[in-house]
Amino acid sequence: MNALSLRQLNKTYPGGITALRDINLEVTPGDFYGLLGPNGAGKTTIIGVVASLVRPTTGTVEVFGHDIIKSPWDAKSNIGLVPQEFNFNQFETVGQIVTNQAGFYGIDRATARYRAEKYLRELDLWDKRNATSRSLSGGMKRRLMIARALIHEPQLLILDEPTAGVDIELRRSMWEFLRQMNERGTTIILTTHYLEEAESLCRGIGIIDGGRIVEDTNVQSLLTRLKSQSFMLDVT
Ligand code: ATP
Repeated sequence: MNALSLRQLNKTYPGGITALRDINLEVTPGDFYGLLGPNGAGKTTIIGVVASLVRPTTGTVEVFGHDIIKSPWDAKSNIGLVPQEFNFNQFETVGQIVTNQAGFYGIDRATARYRAEKYLRELDLWDKRNATSRSLSGGMKRRLMIARALIHEPQLLILDEPTAGVDIELRRSMWEFLRQMNERGTTIILTTHYLEEAESLCRGIGIIDGGRIVEDTNVQSLLTRLKSQSFMLDVT
């Protein structure tokens, strides 16, 4: 069984923009998979479809064997989502944001508190647990989104450009955290514009452009080819 299986996925938004064209993708359990591509390629739309935030025009999505339409709860409870935009209640504290999320999954309060402390400590946010989210720096908010996404300990963590706008030092510490999560068994899919990020973290990699997966490969093959072709990918 795959961690994620996309078959013949198409998405045309109302208004006529076709964002996804015949996407077929399999991500195996334990992989660290990168979706790399330029602005407007369709990365966020894929994530939206997988997280049931965007309805596909055609095609199917399975998360650990659970069809997102037929078994939405089983699919959703296996996914932790870190979206691109901050979407906190800015008056809630860091601790509240993480423990409130546990409520959506029916996690008891003691477990929620235990996990919140564990992930806030690991992400270096424990000292900020009583601060409101509006008082946090951009990098702290990114890490808070990760802590919140992990509260139900999903098997698949999906991150949409998690280090966009984050300085290089913090980016490296986030990479280290994600690497550890992957080593502990969490399958990770992230979108990125940074080839360096994909190179540092990912094994599987999909290059997406114009709504199509134009290459589904692994990082080593991609880098070898890019070097041999002196080919510059538009990933600014
Ligand atoms: P970025 O790297 O800039 O986030 P992306 O690869 O994530 O880009 P998407 O955000 O998935 O790309 O966008 C794919 C295409 O779909 C773009 O042409 C975009 O303008 C369009 N699009 C995205 N969301 C909507 C929407 N809600 N309504 C209409 N068109 C949309």
